[in-house]
Amino acid sequence: MKNQRNLFVISGPSGSGKNTVYDGVRARIPEIAQTVSATTRAIRDGEIDGVDYYFMSVEEFQRKIKEDAFIEYVNYGHNYYGTLKSEITRLTEMGKIIVLIIEVNGALRFKELYPDAETIFIIPPSVEELRHRIVGRGQNTAEETENRLQIAIDEMENMDKYDHCVINDDLNQCIEEVYHIIKGDDQNDQY
Ligand code: 5GP
Repeated sequence: MKNQRNLFVISGPSGSGKNTVYDGVRARIPEIAQTVSATTRAIRDGEIDGVDYYFMSVEEFQRKIKEDAFIEYVNYGHNYYGTLKSEITRLTEMGKIIVLIIEVNGALRFKELYPDAETIFIIPPSVEELRHRIVGRGQNTAEETENRLQIAIDEMENMDKYDHCVINDDLNQCIEEVYHIIKGDDQNDQY
């Protein structure tokens, strides 16, 4: 590593492919680890509690808010999502390069609290492609799809607040760019 940065935040609209990009980068940098967020949304097929998220009830989540357990949390698409302070401690103690994959409002709040964190926004190639990807997943009702699409459009209005923006029209190239940002030897961002 050429730099000492060890805290990164990745955002991108639902369907931008940010999780796939992260998986590609992690395959090349084994010492990175993603914080496990807490959420009240329903568990999806294939997801594992404690690995993909800490799935909890609204009551439990609200209790943790009162206990000041979160660094940041949001209400997104009618569900709570939040980063627990204990996650940063856990991964720091493990000596990991920490990556948060969270939505825009939480990311910007996090950047205020941790100004040294590098923020990366993954841009989908187009709104039409985004709709195609969200519908193609088949995990959302028509109403949820429209809701996520509208959130996505709102999120993209904030991308200029990020340290780096990378278009995901070619997955391998996008992985390559994010890899170099995290390694600290990125030459020229697309933006
Ligand atoms: P999904 O329901 O598709 O897993 O996630 C919906 C959105 O919530 C995604 O943009 C995801 O990155 C974001 N998200 C996941 N965990 C957190 C979190 O802890 N905080 C915030 N602010 N957003 C999160």
